[in-house]
Amino acid sequence: MTGRRTDIGGVTVPVDHLIGGEWVGSPDTFETRSPLDWDAGPLAHVARGDADTARAAVAAATEGFAVWGSWGVSQRAEVMHRLADLIDANAEEIALAETLDMAFLQESMRLRLVGRGALNFRTYADLIVAHEEREWDAKNLHNWVQRMPAGPAVVITPWNAPFMLSTWKLAPALAAGNSVIHKPAEWSPLSAALLAELTLDAGFPPGAYNLVQGIGEEVGAALVADPGVRRITFTGSPGTARHIGHAAAENIVPFTAELGGKGPLIVFADSDLDAAAHRAAWQFDDSGQVCLAGTRLLVDASIRDEFMKKFDEHADALVLGDSRDPATQIAPMVHPDHRDAVHGFVERARANGDTILRGGQPRADSLHYEPTLIEPTSNDSEVVQQEIFGPVLTLQTFDDESDAIRLANSTAYGLSAIVFTGSRERAERVGRALRAGLVWVNTFLVRDLTAPFGGCGISGIGREGGDHALEFHSDLKTLMILDDSCH
Ligand code: NAD
Repeated sequence: MTGRRTDIGGVTVPVDHLIGGEWVGSPDTFETRSPLDWDAGPLAHVARGDADTARAAVAAATEGFAVWGSWGVSQRAEVMHRLADLIDANAEEIALAETLDMAFLQESMRLRLVGRGALNFRTYADLIVAHEEREWDAKNLHNWVQRMPAGPAVVITPWNAPFMLSTWKLAPALAAGNSVIHKPAEWSPLSAALLAELTLDAGFPPGAYNLVQGIGEEVGAALVADPGVRRITFTGSPGTARHIGHAAAENIVPFTAELGGKGPLIVFADSDLDAAAHRAAWQFDDSGQVCLAGTRLLVDASIRDEFMKKFDEHADALVLGDSRDPATQIAPMVHPDHRDAVHGFVERARANGDTILRGGQPRADSLHYEPTLIEPTSNDSEVVQQEIFGPVLTLQTFDDESDAIRLANSTAYGLSAIVFTGSRERAERVGRALRAGLVWVNTFLVRDLTAPFGGCGISGIGREGGDHALEFHSDLKTLMILDDSCH
């Protein structure tokens, strides 16, 4: 079946579910709108999955698993490499869909993130081929460890950076030999549909790769509660993770969660201040809709004024605009509801007596929110302790290194941290003292895909990246044969 398709700005996108290798509709749909032109009406009407859709997808994934999970690693790797090549070949369409759907900067998508998505599949294809089973002799036994595919995996993803984040979670699940059911976010479902379509040409067997569209509390909840599912991997908010965690516990299903962040960006007096200020102002990138962002600026009190002067210069130069325009640096926010939620944080900060140093208002003519900097009255202020997920930073000063570490580690989150210093010794000392899954010193966002990725505290459960994700998606088996017992 070909399924329904919708033309969005010259790219036609499937708007149904992909189940068992077929496009399948639902009686209901939900609408997605473009943040670039909200009042223009719906961009697409997308199939709205329900409990029946979830059941059908798990049944198809169970059949798909029987085939895909039995293939050798070279055969799986070949299909994944083919998918990576198809992603590269369709970069323009994927970039445009993402830009129209959730306002991601089109140039960034085209030049960086689509390629990173393809690299996720290549990296995991290579990792499974290179994997050697651990083997050793001990206690009169020859031992070895086998990674068995676990079964159908549900992959639930958020609306920010949806294409790249989806590939990052789907690639290890598929590489491990699991079939997948991908449920993208309802605010940005379209690039996932293009990806699903490419899997048909890449040569996955029917049911190995399934896409289900719909609302989280409806089809998402039904998927994670299905007893046929053997792995759940989720990226999103801590609140949703709690619901999914309950469902995973009910069926005793391993579950990873990549959740929100409230990272510090620490500037020591011995750092390259201009580089630090530039990077700090760039935390407004993607309108602050970045889990890894260093949203709490912690600056040595002795350099506060000098830092602020440079920060203001860089922040003043940021260009807010339409995400299709290559000159634009800051895109509109994803949805009016999210912009209003961000504004709610700022209004409560005002009422709390926190000082708004810059911004603090939505733009009247677009879904932009002004890049905002707040100096809180205390470290307990809501804007310091809660993830805002918008272009809102806080500014606090510290007296010495231990004060900086104390402030940095003082929220319930622990996803990432950024440190600026010119001292290698301080970099290692502070880096080791920070409670975060990722710490960058004098840089940001670069990561080798084989390095572990994940959060401490309420920022997550488990680690993705490299072999960490492959082990999560596998059932490890230890085989033991008594020495000299067979020939
Ligand atoms: P969200 O939790 O609202 O939704 C995420 C996904 O979960 C969506 O697909 C949604 O439909 C689905 N969902 C919602 N309720 C569900 C339920 N009951 N059962 C099953 N699925 C359900 O998050 P969001 O607003 O889309 O994303 C923003 C959040 O994601 C922020 O907190 C951000 O920090 C976090 N995030 C984390 C990372 C990371 O790697 N740590 C990366 C990106 C985003």
